[in-house]
Amino acid sequence: MSDADHCDIPAGPVANLAKIRDALDKAMAHNNGVSPPITITAVSKKHGPDRILPLLEAGHRDFGENRVQEALGKWPALKARYGDVELRLIGPLQSNKVRDAVGLFDVIETVDRPKIARLLAEEMRLQNRRVALLVQVNTGEEPQKAGMAPGDVDAFINLCKDQYGLTIDGLMCIPPADQAPAPHFALLAKIAARNGLETLSMGMSADYETAVQLGATHIRVGTQLFGARPDSP
Ligand SMILES: *Cc1c(COP(=O)(O)O)cnc(C)c1O
Repeated sequence: MSDADHCDIPAGPVANLAKIRDALDKAMAHNNGVSPPITITAVSKKHGPDRILPLLEAGHRDFGENRVQEALGKWPALKARYGDVELRLIGPLQSNKVRDAVGLFDVIETVDRPKIARLLAEEMRLQNRRVALLVQVNTGEEPQKAGMAPGDVDAFINLCKDQYGLTIDGLMCIPPADQAPAPHFALLAKIAARNGLETLSMGMSADYETAVQLGATHIRVGTQLFGARPDSP
């Protein structure tokens, strides 16, 4: 068979990961300064262990899920087998899921209100477990979207520290779907810089190259790694 015969065969997640790393290298080559290493969070929501295992076997350890309940169904067993997995919650966190979230996730990227911060602080004390925390910023100030308004972030970070003894490690955003992402990434980077935060989770399948050029340290990639998501988990 010629190479052309293979064109329609979808590559697996492991091959796709290598392609994304290449694309990142190319995107970063245009940056003149020294760049920090970029973590690729494999967004495995709605994909079962059969799709996740090849990446784990290949040594990939950073994964993201957007629902606590769904993650509870598949990750405890995988984490027992691959101890150094770093599992990140990238979807909204409800108060009644805080206990489970603190028990399962290593990073929660979607802290966006004082009540959740207070509950996270309490639960981390109870479980004697430290989970890294990012504040989700609603850079487009979209009413239907989770995240804190950009103007409230500085005060919220101080509140987390002074009131709840919580360290915030960075920021996360999901730009509006119908706008160019670059200004949103730039805004997130600016808020992070003035608060001395190093972790910037921004960029998804469609825009991660732009995101890393604007300072992303973590990108969240689902579709480009796994292909289209099935309708249900
Ligand atoms: C689903 C999801 C992603 C991955 O999106 P793709 O376009 O499939 O790469 C990234 N971030 C969040 C918060 C998500 O919910």
